[in-house]
Amino acid sequence: MARRVLLASRNAKKLTELRRILDEAGVAGVEIVGLADVPEYPEEPETGATFEENALAKARDGAVATGLPCVADDSGIEVDALNGMPGVLSARWSGGHGDDAANNALLLGQLNDVPDERRGGRFVSTCALVSPDGAETVVRGEWPGRIAREPLGEHGFGYDPLFVPEGDGRSAAQLTPAEKDAVSHRGRALRLLLPALAALAE
Ligand code: IMP
Repeated sequence: MARRVLLASRNAKKLTELRRILDEAGVAGVEIVGLADVPEYPEEPETGATFEENALAKARDGAVATGLPCVADDSGIEVDALNGMPGVLSARWSGGHGDDAANNALLLGQLNDVPDERRGGRFVSTCALVSPDGAETVVRGEWPGRIAREPLGEHGFGYDPLFVPEGDGRSAAQLTPAEKDAVSHRGRALRLLLPALAALAE
């Protein structure tokens, strides 16, 4: 019988990407379930100073509440001209949680006078896998690029319309889902987690 693993994300757009990447990778002997498939448990506020702390906290909560191995991701965008911010505050940069349009407008305004050569940054995704026996694995994927001067493209979510990956003239929101997964911070992080996930099925 397949080992059930909880993918603990309440962000629907992020969850779609996480599931897509794991489905594409296809870990033998592991069945990914979501929060809708397990009894509800309270979500702690994200108070960590690093992506690693937040991802681990979410994965520990899920493993303790359900008794299942649990995968959680914490992610965001780091902008060099803002000394690495928004960072862990990416989802709440403009105040409310997850208001993509307001977050993008604020970031664009902050970078108004920043010249092209100093608009570098990166998306970061940290994924944690925590087992009910206490074993923990944390991995990080980064996707370098720069911040555009206006939103471009319709795909993806969050800061995707403002992020132009290194080596590509298109924004992340102009890539197809498969193109994004192949190079994104989330794709890179999850693929690093595959050996630990596969080991659960042994
Ligand atoms: P959290 O991981 O739920 O704390 O929030 C991550 C936030 O970072 C999202 O709300 C987005 O604003 C941003 N973010 C993370 N990954 C991506 C991505 O792949 N594309 C665009 N924005 C992202």
